Amino acid sequence: MKIPFFCYPHVFEIQKQALLETFADVASRGAFILQEEVRTFEERLAAYCGVRHVIGVGNATDGLELILSGLGIGTGDEVILPSHTFVASVGAITSTGAHPVFAEIGADHLLDETDIEHRVTDRSRVLMPVQLNGRTCQMDELNSIAAAHDLIVVEDSAQGLGSRFRGRMCGTFGTAGIYSFYPAKILGALGDAGAVVTNDDALAQDIRERRDHGRTGPTGEVHQWGRNSRMDNLQAAFLLVKFEAFASEIARRRTLAARYQDGLEHVEQLVLPPPPKVDEDHFDTFQNYEVEAEERDELRSFLHDQGVGTALAWGGKAVHQFEALGFSLQLPRTEQILRRSLLLPMNTSLADDDVDLVCDLIARFYASE
Ligand SMILES: *Cc1c(COP(=O)(O)O)cnc(C)c1O
Repeated sequence: MKIPFFCYPHVFEIQKQALLETFADVASRGAFILQEEVRTFEERLAAYCGVRHVIGVGNATDGLELILSGLGIGTGDEVILPSHTFVASVGAITSTGAHPVFAEIGADHLLDETDIEHRVTDRSRVLMPVQLNGRTCQMDELNSIAAAHDLIVVEDSAQGLGSRFRGRMCGTFGTAGIYSFYPAKILGALGDAGAVVTNDDALAQDIRERRDHGRTGPTGEVHQWGRNSRMDNLQAAFLLVKFEAFASEIARRRTLAARYQDGLEHVEQLVLPPPPKVDEDHFDTFQNYEVEAEERDELRSFLHDQGVGTALAWGGKAVHQFEALGFSLQLPRTEQILRRSLLLPMNTSLADDDVDLVCDLIARFYASE
């Protein structure tokens, strides 16, 4: 591939020397589990997000599950969320025994605030917006819908770190949120890692214990049943290195998004995501660049033949469309968007010329029809 969809070695290569030194430092101290680096990363992230508590966990899916179970969500409860999400959002719900209830998405591919209230029942407990592609939902409206129906807001902000709505950090609008540091995420570790963010002191303490077998502190005293989902200390150390370059990571992605916008806005067969700075409410970080395309599959194979890698979100299906999971509802607008959705390369291994080439190829594809 001339332009791969995502280049995993780049996650390492871009800060290779610093990461190698960090590895040597941490490993030679034997500081592998819940050491200073996890605490420091939690503190830095809390300051960056403007929240009281960050708890480093093994991955974001675990974080979501720890939040839901910590809130007492379980059998018989319903959680409302969009179906255009990673199966992880839904797996975290079902693993507590609760039921996912899917709502439609709007033009920006995020939870449609007008499609929620008729899905509320007397079993609804949680509203879970998914902050997809580095864009934050209309949280004012979602929070007032949640308040009107006595729902707890838990954000799946796995893709949202750095994204803001009306100046406020994605992940901090509800009772709790999560971030994922999976390598392809905007702040990518060299393996799995995740974090829970919350301003709720009791929930924070509960999750801090349950991520480590129900223990806290050095004595080994067990306070409750827990599990093992600690953020790896090496990953925390790598994330501290990555975090120093995070502002430039976001700035670069916004520049690339603006370049795609310029290069593609005249192509009428495409629907582009909202460009950076289209309104005052949103600060988007472009975790992904998701377009809607006519003749999506033909375009995709044309780009592939020309050496450009693209991806289908979630392998091409919304969660309710995976047969093995046994859902039977239909979500026409979500399904329509998934039929047309295409993820173009969006990451900091892209040069300006790469984006120009992708834009030229797309224009050529539609011109030659
Ligand atoms: C990546 C992702 C997750 C899961 O994060 P992990 O750290 O891999 O567990 C959950 N939800 C969404 C929307 C994601 O993109």
